[in-house]
Amino acid sequence: MVTSFLLRGGTVLPMEGSKAVFDPGSVLVIDGKIELVGRVADVDQHAAASNVEVVDATGHAVVPGFHNCHLHSGLLRGTAESLALWEWLEDHIDPAHRALTPEIAEAASWMAYTEGLRGGTISVLDMWRHMDGSARAAEAIGIRATLAPYTADLYDYFETLETNRRLLETHLVAADGRVRTWVGLEHIFYCSPDMFRGAAALAEEFDTGIHTHSSESIWEVQECLRQFGRRPIEEFYNRGILGPQTVIAHGVWLDDREVQLMVQTGTSVTHCPCSNMKLSSGPARIGFYRQQGMTVGLGTDGEKENNNLDMLEEMKFASLLQKVSTLDPTTGDPWDILDMATLSGARALGLDDVTGSLESGKDADIVTVDLGGLHFVPVMHGDDFNIAAHLVFTASSHDVANVWVQGRQLVADGDVTSVDVREVAEQAQAAAEELFERRRQLKGTTPSPATTLGKNQ
Ligand SMILES: [Zn+2]
Repeated sequence: MVTSFLLRGGTVLPMEGSKAVFDPGSVLVIDGKIELVGRVADVDQHAAASNVEVVDATGHAVVPGFHNCHLHSGLLRGTAESLALWEWLEDHIDPAHRALTPEIAEAASWMAYTEGLRGGTISVLDMWRHMDGSARAAEAIGIRATLAPYTADLYDYFETLETNRRLLETHLVAADGRVRTWVGLEHIFYCSPDMFRGAAALAEEFDTGIHTHSSESIWEVQECLRQFGRRPIEEFYNRGILGPQTVIAHGVWLDDREVQLMVQTGTSVTHCPCSNMKLSSGPARIGFYRQQGMTVGLGTDGEKENNNLDMLEEMKFASLLQKVSTLDPTTGDPWDILDMATLSGARALGLDDVTGSLESGKDADIVTVDLGGLHFVPVMHGDDFNIAAHLVFTASSHDVANVWVQGRQLVADGDVTSVDVREVAEQAQAAAEELFERRRQLKGTTPSPATTLGKNQ
């Protein structure tokens, strides 16, 4: 496997915290790591540049790979649409959890990771079940995966802190650092206060991260106030799970005090604009969060909430949702949005020392986007530069041409090279059909948490 090469002549956006562009520029990769990023002529002069394979990036944008900081592997795409939240949970989601087997779960991860990778996603934070199968999928596909099992103790069909511990023991860090395990917590209403304390202790014992959902809907905040006398992030603070290694998915309805708690503790949030719109959750104040110093990553959420895992499309929605919810067209700047998908995402995952930007010494996690399509015309350089805007507002996953992770090329000219995509799709299709059949047979045999949580929203 060639892991040294010169990616030459593209429009390079290093995304190292500025709006710097090398246009045309090059990235020199030696043994899977970025050796030099700069103007074509400067990189050409490097002693190693003439000894490695040259990959022509003319007509392509060259950017760091994307971090999808909230995902659920899954197979329910398009099958439970436009329903009220409790009907959605009770009739579709919870029964599917009950019907899930390790084999079906693994097929879902193969599907999700392959789909993400094809669209430029080089790293996922996945909350899912039976995740030793997810680890196998990630390792074979070559993507980075942070595994956060769906744990809960108030319902009997989720993962537990015991199964999470077992995954930590086998996969705390695996596959050359690409696969890592965190502690997952499904949701504040699915997990007892004792379980939160156990999760905090487990994360501390293994010095690893915590991932959970919070503050997604107004009802959830009100219910939290009713049950615990505090808003969700205040309750999390009390239960000891906030901190620089914790990532909260959604965080739509944070009041100013909760924002300050997030900032003071160094807790990150993952913004999932498609999911927040599709489930009518609301618009998170992402521009404000970032101004206050919160680290904000971007996530697609699952296939059932999105319905694809296209990070370029997610960027567009992230920008548009900011604009429409604030009635301020100056928010949702393309550079800010690209930062969320790259360096800030890596920071949320604690990976910004090794990935998230194109800088010397970092792993070569690189994506090229082919700007040759009719929909990109005109492509402008120099004073009229429009390529950052093209990436956020025009590009989709189908425009991604090449993807490298740690210098290994996993997508070449739009084709995933590490696995057989047709086989992955066929196995996921068969697994989904089995899942739906099992769900049909189980239906009505056990109550859904939605029933016991109440439909009083
Ligand atoms: Zn989620």
